[in-house]
Amino acid sequence: MSETPYLTFDLDTPGMTTGYLVVPKGDDCEAISLPVFSLNKAEGPRLLVTGGNHGNELEGPIVARRLVDWLPKAQTCGSVIIVPMLNLPAVQAWSQDSPIDGLNLNRVFPGRADGSVTERIADAVSRLLLPMADTVFDLHSFGPTWDFPPAVITHPIADADLMAKTLQLAEAFKLPVTLLWEHPDTNGMFDTWAHSQGKVFICAEFGGGTVSAEALAIYESGLRNGLIALGLVEGRAECPTFRQRKASKTLETLLSDELKSPARGIFEPRCSVLDEVKQGDLIGVVYPMDSLLADAIDIRAPTTSIVCAVKSGIHVDVNQKVAFLARPLIP
Ligand SMILES: [Zn+2]
Repeated sequence: MSETPYLTFDLDTPGMTTGYLVVPKGDDCEAISLPVFSLNKAEGPRLLVTGGNHGNELEGPIVARRLVDWLPKAQTCGSVIIVPMLNLPAVQAWSQDSPIDGLNLNRVFPGRADGSVTERIADAVSRLLLPMADTVFDLHSFGPTWDFPPAVITHPIADADLMAKTLQLAEAFKLPVTLLWEHPDTNGMFDTWAHSQGKVFICAEFGGGTVSAEALAIYESGLRNGLIALGLVEGRAECPTFRQRKASKTLETLLSDELKSPARGIFEPRCSVLDEVKQGDLIGVVYPMDSLLADAIDIRAPTTSIVCAVKSGIHVDVNQKVAFLARPLIP
């Protein structure tokens, strides 16, 4: 029989507490202790902040860890739980997926108590942490192989009320982009599971590429804006400057906005995120490298759009995504 996950402390303890969420051992590894921070003040909103869902997106764990430092002085009411590294083995391996079972934590929710380690982490979070919150901020960063603006993203939600609440809170982060993303593969995502439990779920995709001081500052101010919007922290929301721009945009990207490479080769980006492109404008070039006689292939914008994400210079396979386009969301 499988063991059950547990917390080393009571999440209802008043004031600040730190401890661990213990994910039980299984056939594949020993028990794993995920560091957890909890801060309970007066009645108010209940928030869960998670980082490290994907192990190679370290802006989230860094900003979550910073939050542990400043929240005790700033929080005025409500309860906040912070878990900077959800998929601890993946973070330690700097890998999107777990090095132990090869699974993507963000595709196995709500998890399984008798499953492999990634499924056991999801099970522990689903059972012990998610029920304690009304709102979740899950801090991602699109991974190191993309250029992507600091953004809050959400997938379309069938419940119209939850969709409206989610978009409203997402926009309150005042990050450069709020993105409604039609995604082909939402089964098992943490947000899909949280939505099914009626939670407002904010997925912050805090930029891409390598971790930079500038990006971290933007992400942290977005997170603070989110906490202010929830009423957990007092203060005035600030709109951060990103690449000389101060405006935030709400965009929508559809399945048809994914641009894929028609060939194997090295992709070279020829545009930047937030560029406005017209039909036929060059997004990037793929150089097939198997034969130097093969022509380079242009990847062009199919319609007038805004560049939302573009792959960094990297070797890609046939049909691998190289860019996402978007357009202003029409409410
Ligand atoms: Zn991620």
